[in-house]
Amino acid sequence: VEKKNINLENNTCIIEGEDVKHISKVLRCRVGECLEICDNDNNEYIAEISGISKEEVTLDIVETIDIKRESDLKVRLYQGLPKGPKMEMILQKLTEVGVDEIILVQTKRSVAKVDDKKEDKKIERWERIIYEAAKQSKRGKIPTLRGVLSFKEALADMKNNDFNIVPYENERTKSIKQAIKDIDINNIGIFVGPEGGFAEEEIKQIEDINGQSVSLGPRILRTETASVVASSIVLYELSD
Ligand code: SAM
Repeated sequence: VEKKNINLENNTCIIEGEDVKHISKVLRCRVGECLEICDNDNNEYIAEISGISKEEVTLDIVETIDIKRESDLKVRLYQGLPKGPKMEMILQKLTEVGVDEIILVQTKRSVAKVDDKKEDKKIERWERIIYEAAKQSKRGKIPTLRGVLSFKEALADMKNNDFNIVPYENERTKSIKQAIKDIDINNIGIFVGPEGGFAEEEIKQIEDINGQSVSLGPRILRTETASVVASSIVLYELSD
């Protein structure tokens, strides 16, 4: 629910848009039943339906849910653009795991190329996937999707992060745990290569802006696995 639709002075809330149909037709909710609602800013409530029309569902907030689902550490996952359907899986799983932002990057070996004409529709579908995944995993915030950035733009963006790691299969020694040991940070960038991996010069450029290359173990993971695994490890190691 958009924050502006929640009124904490009189404890009411209005749900509009596509969720109205979902609540009334799919979930078949009736007046008097309760829903869990979230304001995309980490606040959750239990609210009782007071009215249902075609345009909106009105609710009375009856309880505040005291639970912290979002990590204080913000993970920004830079994803080298993979082929078609893989992207959907990556977005869904990264949302479940808890990343804060997903940034799409066209790297040297990205097979998928950006097609501006089709891009808007694709982004719209991808945002929908993130939204649905956020709802099902009860995220307190819907992850942001950005891009598609060029490699150069991604490097500039990463400079804004407190720390950056790059999972790289030719990095044999340094694990994520070692790389992030004893650091105190609020956000971290993780840059995962596409199916063809990174070109060596790209790794050098990332290291030059203070990105630390890390190993995810001796086996080669698919790009979609690497993104989910790297984010999970970072959130596990660094979240409170
Ligand atoms: N060809 C496979 C595919 O279709 O996805 C594997 C691609 S792997 C080269 C893609 C990216 O996953 C790499 O650029 C790297 O970021 C990450 N990666 C995969 N295995 C890794 C490992 N063992 N250690 C570190 N990074 C790894």
